[in-house]
Amino acid sequence: MITARNNWLKLFELATKNKIMEHTYSGSLTPYACNDRKSLGRAHDEETPIYRNNYQRDRDRIIHSAAFRRLEYKTQVFVNHEGDLFRTRLTHSLEVAQIARSIARELGLHEDLSEAIALSHDLGHTPFGHAGQTALNECMKDHGGFEHNLQSLRVVDTLEQKYAEFSGLNLTYETREGILKHCSKNNAKKLGALGERFLNKTQPSLEAQLTDLSDETAYNNHDVDDGLRYGLIRINDLLKIELFRKQHDIVVKKYPGLNDRQLIHEIIRRMINVMVVDLIDTSRENIANADPKSINDVRQQTAPLMAFSETMCEQKLELKQFLRTNLYQHYRVHRMSMKAFSIIKALFEAFMHDPRILPTEALEHCKKLEGLNSKDGLARGIADYIAGMTDRYAIIEYERIFNPRQLSFVNLIP
Ligand code: MG
Repeated sequence: MITARNNWLKLFELATKNKIMEHTYSGSLTPYACNDRKSLGRAHDEETPIYRNNYQRDRDRIIHSAAFRRLEYKTQVFVNHEGDLFRTRLTHSLEVAQIARSIARELGLHEDLSEAIALSHDLGHTPFGHAGQTALNECMKDHGGFEHNLQSLRVVDTLEQKYAEFSGLNLTYETREGILKHCSKNNAKKLGALGERFLNKTQPSLEAQLTDLSDETAYNNHDVDDGLRYGLIRINDLLKIELFRKQHDIVVKKYPGLNDRQLIHEIIRRMINVMVVDLIDTSRENIANADPKSINDVRQQTAPLMAFSETMCEQKLELKQFLRTNLYQHYRVHRMSMKAFSIIKALFEAFMHDPRILPTEALEHCKKLEGLNSKDGLARGIADYIAGMTDRYAIIEYERIFNPRQLSFVNLIP
């Protein structure tokens, strides 16, 4: 053991002397990619990490955050307890990262940055998917509203509290830029440099653009898979959709005897592949035409360079419309959404009515914000608390507050 430790120390000293400590990205980067050595930096200066580049450090901090762990119990479309095989926000984020990394690597863009953005892009989501977001936004309408993208930024900028020298995760500008996919003009004005692109209609980095489209690619495909698994949509109905039908016909011709599970997987993996290949080819052409020489040239573009072809956009739209009508607006999904809506609204109103029922830590957080701007601060603190809940925590918290049988002082979850 001692020898191994001594050897390690020697290597460590050698590495320091030879200045091979400052790790940079090992893949090949184009001149217009984000470069970890030329990052616009962090809010609080830190030394360059050892054996990692700055975007790897961002990714690692995201993975070690509490908000990331909570994604496991947050709904994507189907609530977590409806089945172990449905996507959650966590598995969705991992699928986005997988797609984003492949695209980044192929196009000579920063793979680590794309991964960091993908893994953090949904950190600000409320419990219960879009129903939760809609409910919380409605609750917050007189207090500045609630946007999940902005909330993701809030999580990494301030809400994670575990580092000695700063609030939040102190991520690089480029990761934060990628997290903020959308933003209202009012909120953009408050964000300084990070919000400018929403006012000037300029673009973020290509890594941010590709991760945004990877998000869409992931959910369009995995929602088909989950919808079929749940029995809300059927293969026969999907045959009306060109994107699905084309791959279906290829698979059936090649493997005529597949069972439904195999058939669905073989189709969906091909659909993802077709979309990713289209995105890479179209974007490569756009980049060649625009001929950016630097990341600044990318940011000054008036339209995104990462894009699907027109044909793919049409096919994608057809699939999205199908999913909207047949899956997202299915009565069983609506029932879940309605319950989620009531839970979020009831919790918010109860906490606003009497903040003393908030758990100590959440109350302390509210007091800090309340000091700044009375009711708005309190509402924001409550929104932070609710948005941070997992589905099951929100249900249990609702039970604790509103179920008269639960008069025990002992909490179900400590
Ligand atoms: Mg997403």
